[in-house]
Amino acid sequence: MNDDALAALSEILGDGELLLDEADRARYASDGSGLKGDLPLAVLRPATTERLSQAMAVCARFQIAMITQGGRTGLSGGACVAGPAVVLSTERMQGVVEIDEDAMAMTVWAGTPLERVHDAAREKGLDFPVDIGARGSATVGGLIATNAGGIRVLRHGMMRQNVLGLEVVLADGRILSRLGKLVKDNSGLDLKQIFIGSEGALGVVTMAVLQLKPHAGKAMVVLLALPDFPAALSCLSRARTMFGDRLTAFEGMWPDYWDFVCGEARLARRPVSGTHGFYVLVEIADTDPADIENWFMALSEEGLVEDGILAQSIAEARALWAVREAVGEVDEALGPHINFDLGVASSRLGEFCEACDRCLADVDGAGRALKVGHVGDGNVHLLVAHDGRTETIHDIERAIYGLVAEWGGAITAEHGIGRLKRAWLSCSRSSEEIALMGLLKQALDPAGLLNPGIYPVPEPGADETGRHAC
Ligand SMILES: Cc1cc2nc3c(=O)[nH]c(=O)nc-3n(C[C@H](O)[C@H](O)[C@H](O)COP(=O)(O)OP(=O)(O)OC[C@H]3O[C@@H](n4cnc5c(N)ncnc54)[C@H](O)[C@@H]3O)c2cc1C
Repeated sequence: MNDDALAALSEILGDGELLLDEADRARYASDGSGLKGDLPLAVLRPATTERLSQAMAVCARFQIAMITQGGRTGLSGGACVAGPAVVLSTERMQGVVEIDEDAMAMTVWAGTPLERVHDAAREKGLDFPVDIGARGSATVGGLIATNAGGIRVLRHGMMRQNVLGLEVVLADGRILSRLGKLVKDNSGLDLKQIFIGSEGALGVVTMAVLQLKPHAGKAMVVLLALPDFPAALSCLSRARTMFGDRLTAFEGMWPDYWDFVCGEARLARRPVSGTHGFYVLVEIADTDPADIENWFMALSEEGLVEDGILAQSIAEARALWAVREAVGEVDEALGPHINFDLGVASSRLGEFCEACDRCLADVDGAGRALKVGHVGDGNVHLLVAHDGRTETIHDIERAIYGLVAEWGGAITAEHGIGRLKRAWLSCSRSSEEIALMGLLKQALDPAGLLNPGIYPVPEPGADETGRHAC
């Protein structure tokens, strides 16, 4: 890095806030996507918004690219270093600043892991409802930047629906602070929404006000073995009618995933025996177990359910969740694979998955496909094994993203575009939408220094090479 830039950064950043040693920097090259990242020029990890703002102003002055990182659990490569860039890490911006119990609002630093937010809310008898498997490492800032979804979207929405206020530092170091606890605010555009889901390409989130919820009460966990996917949709609709807001999760597992995780890969214990066409894990809060049993009996009488189990203890509930959460451990057991995170209308999710299977059967080098997902949100995580060849990977992506375009779906329902999916954006978004994203990027970060490449900056005669048409 330029000596003048380094001198300016050293003046701003305190002890331990600037890492230059190669071994230290190497730890920040990549994220959870499996993409190999480049060695960052330096790692900047200020503990205050002011120092981050000053450091970013220096980077802007010297035209240094900046990649923001939280817990580095992202699955799309958005936090991976690509090319000469410094890393902006929020790992020293941790902690709960305030909990306002009456407003049910928590002000928290962006680098705080999600699990700490859950614990702090529970200590006050409240809940923060967004939850994902990577809760121990994923940070508030990362969750906001990716608009994370997870297992309770059905009831509480995604991150976007659970943020009241934000503090953001723009590419040139300007601080945009709106840390209010306002539930209703129609005084102009809701600017925070521009940053939520922008994957660090428009600004760095330093602090947030999160909307907490009343504690949901004891959760009952049920596993259902069903004849097929349509039966899952019927069970979901009956559960919504019977339990309303108390239905907090409805997660689906296709037999390919179930048999791999509970059988061959031995990642979880098989909770029900026999072979079934589909499996769902249902979580219902604050409900009399007798109501759940009645619901189950009614489903069985209609032929919608073949088998099932209601967890009788926390340990049993954990064991049932372990089957669903084993998707986080599949990587090694499955070998080289692509991790798709696709969205279509929930009513068509079953047919869409069948179409994926059919079209993968025609791709040379494609191996087995495992499917697991959030049934009520129309979101499937499709893991496709392959022979490791670049052409195979491309052919699989072309086939699946081509289907997504045909079905009017999303190439990423919750993990984000990152570096892995940006070339396929046109399969989900029109050229007008992509151009508008580019204009926003240009307005907020004209030199394209923040997480370069996630959003294309439209330039006259811009080279579109590398972007795939669906
Ligand atoms: C086991 C496992 C389970 C998962 N389950 C889910 C799931 O159910 N649902 C889901 O949505 N995701 C899931 N994920 C993906 C991942 O955990 C989320 O994307 C999470 O939100 C990333 O948070 P992070 O702090 O690790 O961010 P990082 O990986 O560090 O960064 C992710 C993106 O956000 C940007 N970013 C990070 N911090 C900031 C900030 N403060 N300001 C601006 N930009 C920032 C980065 O530049 C990058 O583009 C899972 C991952 C794993 C490993």
